Amino acid sequence: MKISCVGAGPAGLYFAIVMKRRNPNHEIVVHERNPAGTTHGWGVVFWDDLLATLRTNDPDSARAIADQAVPWSGQVVDVEGQPPLHYGGGGYGICRRRLLQILIERALALGVDIRFESEICEPSQVADADLIVAADGVASQLRRHHADQFRPRIEAGRNKYIWLATTRQFSSFTFGFVPTHAGWVWFHAYSFKEGASTFIVECAPETWNALGLGTMVADAELRVLESIFAKHLDGHELISRDSHDNRLAWSSFRTLVNRSWHADNLVLIGDAAHTTHFTIGSGTRLAIDDAIALASALSEHDSLARALDVFELRRHRALARVQRDARLSAEWFENLPRYIRYNAPTFFTLLLARRSRLLKRIPARTYLYLRDRFTRLTDRTASPFARIGGPAHAFGSKANVGPAGPSLESPAVDAVSAGAG
Ligand SMILES: Cc1cc2nc3c(=O)[nH]c(=O)nc-3n(C[C@H](O)[C@H](O)[C@H](O)COP(=O)(O)OP(=O)(O)OC[C@H]3O[C@@H](n4cnc5c(N)ncnc54)[C@H](O)[C@@H]3O)c2cc1C
Repeated sequence: MKISCVGAGPAGLYFAIVMKRRNPNHEIVVHERNPAGTTHGWGVVFWDDLLATLRTNDPDSARAIADQAVPWSGQVVDVEGQPPLHYGGGGYGICRRRLLQILIERALALGVDIRFESEICEPSQVADADLIVAADGVASQLRRHHADQFRPRIEAGRNKYIWLATTRQFSSFTFGFVPTHAGWVWFHAYSFKEGASTFIVECAPETWNALGLGTMVADAELRVLESIFAKHLDGHELISRDSHDNRLAWSSFRTLVNRSWHADNLVLIGDAAHTTHFTIGSGTRLAIDDAIALASALSEHDSLARALDVFELRRHRALARVQRDARLSAEWFENLPRYIRYNAPTFFTLLLARRSRLLKRIPARTYLYLRDRFTRLTDRTASPFARIGGPAHAFGSKANVGPAGPSLESPAVDAVSAGAG
């Protein structure tokens, strides 16, 4: 089969790898518009379950990824003015650039033809392909073709965020919340390589405007952010990679859903098909799962149309819950003032429950009361409360590393001391 894969992100590269492993006779070309070695963003998090999937599907790249991954242990919530709280669990961070380099080397070794600085905007540019895989990210150009069939819907989140890095190593996944005269500003940080951590800054648009963010040159703005987070950065600097015209690349997260993921011989995978908010740390994993599912469906069915139908059906089903979780998580951060008025242990409980549909609909105090009653009546911890309480872990995957520092295995649920609400 002749396959043109557009986009050398995790989805496109991993698809090329698993397809080649299944049948080395496939002719696969990956087109990437950027030059080799360039990408956006910094480190991404993942958990053991992804490593297990990678080992099953390509042990060679799995080994290289495991070698380059940096473990982080526990979660920390640090609300200014209150002692930081620690919670168990753990996972890994990896530099996005390194991850892609590993996948590129592996794909090349398997005989995939990777063409950098090759931008594909029209299916007609790769007309000789039997299958065109659009792995060209959330702003997919190929998706515009057959848009009537894909029916994409993009919603921009309210909050502003920016994906930065710092030289400070955060050995736990850390959420830090800092009040300013204009409202709360917070960060999500985790290490992704020796001496470097991802540092995503987020705030409400009103806060962003009132602080004058987005109006300064990049360096000046980084210094402003460093002063806001001075206590957490401990003298380390913030680093930006994605500035445009000397301005920091602030964004509003775009949540994308498509009614359908394939039309004729064009199929969408990864962020081109769906996005999930970064606060559940799943986009890379889902992109890789899409790649594997597409390769499986293609090898199970001789008919391309049938294979694409099966792929889409399986992945649509698998995605429904994660996308719902991601939306709830994004909305939780958009409604931060509802939760941050509580004391730190209660706030932490609410943060861990941010994918709860119930929490979104009722006052936080009522939610805490019901959750507490449920726990007492059933003598079960809060995590089996999942249907209405949401998963107990901050992200949702198999957290498997013990707590770091003073632990708060089950954050306090105290509706009475929870303050106004
Ligand atoms: C702030 C932030 C933090 C995140 N953190 C995490 C995390 O911790 N864990 C996690 O799992 N996920 C995380 N994600 C999500 C993750 O980055 C994406 O879900 C993932 O990169 C999707 O992979 P992809 O291959 O589908 O798309 P991309 O990685 O976007 O790759 C698409 C590729 O296509 C190329 N391309 C685009 N158009 C064309 C064209 N016309 N022709 C040729 N090439 C083209 C692009 O240059 C790019 O290389 C985060 C996302 C954000 C925004």
